[in-house]
Amino acid sequence: MKTDRKPVTIEEAIERIVSRSSPGKAITVSLEKADFLHLAEDIVADHHVPMFDRSMYDGFAVKAADTQQAEPDAPKRLRVIESIPAGKEAQGSLQSGTAMRIMTGAAIPPGADAVLMLEDVREGNDEDGSYIEVTSPVSPGSHISHRGEDITAGMVLAKIGRRIGSGEKAVLATFGYHQVKVYQPPEVAILATGSELLPVDAPLVPGKIRNSNSYMVETQLRRMGAVPKPLGIIKDDFEACYQAVTTALEEADFVVTTGGASVGDYDFVQALIERLDAEVLFNKVAMRPGSVTTVAKKGEKWLFGLSGNPAACFVGVELFVRPVLKKAMGAQHLHLPQISATLAVDITTTNPYTRLMRARTELHQGQLVVRPVGLDKSSIISGLLEANSLLMIPGGEQTYHRGEKVNVIWLEEEGMCHGSTARS
Ligand code: AMP
Ligand code: MG
Repeated sequence: MKTDRKPVTIEEAIERIVSRSSPGKAITVSLEKADFLHLAEDIVADHHVPMFDRSMYDGFAVKAADTQQAEPDAPKRLRVIESIPAGKEAQGSLQSGTAMRIMTGAAIPPGADAVLMLEDVREGNDEDGSYIEVTSPVSPGSHISHRGEDITAGMVLAKIGRRIGSGEKAVLATFGYHQVKVYQPPEVAILATGSELLPVDAPLVPGKIRNSNSYMVETQLRRMGAVPKPLGIIKDDFEACYQAVTTALEEADFVVTTGGASVGDYDFVQALIERLDAEVLFNKVAMRPGSVTTVAKKGEKWLFGLSGNPAACFVGVELFVRPVLKKAMGAQHLHLPQISATLAVDITTTNPYTRLMRARTELHQGQLVVRPVGLDKSSIISGLLEANSLLMIPGGEQTYHRGEKVNVIWLEEEGMCHGSTARS
């Protein structure tokens, strides 16, 4: 029974889950709490930015026409009639032959059409007060940031589904969004199964290992904008697993289990799903690591049965948990970005399954170059330290040579454009 599992391609697996997932609820959060969540509303500019012509430098607001004859040997003298700090408007307007001292960000006074930088003028005082001497002409508009030059009223600045990062925060704050409508971050229960597992603070004893998957998955989920709910370690006991998963499904819409996913004597995930009467979307994927990945739905709830092997678990979260959560979060991009890179080494494959090798992709002489890191075994943790990408090697018997272009899934979600999606 357990061995009767028909593998689907990565693409088919992703297709099945994406077609069955849907956006969650929209909520309103304070701007401070909006980091890495996805907008549930379009952000439209309700005013120009800047709202008024303003000075780009500390200097003097002048009429450009007054400076046209200015030369080092024949400086043009302008009387300084007012000083405008940032945040204040001039009291008067500028007449020909006069200047106003102005600070960066202050509104350009009526009558002025250019700003001279402090360092470009000579300042002086006489019996009539202060003046400046201008030694070269300035053109109209110089050093002025014009009304609406950054953003014009009515512009759509960010579309629904966009992830809120620092740039989005700056724009939201500029337009007075002290609260913003976002999709509710999904809560995801994590259950680590395995009688060999110890809590992280326990001393090691022979035959046991510490539960590292929960912590790894927690961080992966947090980076996606989801809320992990670690529910601890469950022994390889069918009843205990069944009880724990049943409770987890009551508490969260998404449940991730690690371990027990294979065909071993104590691998209960398949039996558990049967007893739950959950709908299996797939229970085997033609990929390595992580071929024994199961995704099932119980009503609107999701159950992800991931392999206990750390690398397989990692890949399962990024490939299959991510798109479901991202869809729930109303995201524009459901998958990690996929890029093309040049192989740094020869790779020979003999396996019919697609390989997803932990890899490091780096810019080398203007080219993205990729090389596998660590041992290519699903039990290996050290490779996860160095990996910033997953190198995709299609199944089959073939050698891919150094210098060839290959597809790479970029793991550092930030800082790489979403040109395509992470599908095989
Ligand atoms: P399983 O999927 O239960 O067959 O486990 C596969 C391998 O992953 C075994 O070597 C387990 O000891 C290991 N493993 C299972 N769960 C975890 C975990 N939470 N943290 C680290 N390793 C694990
Ligand atoms: Mg196990």
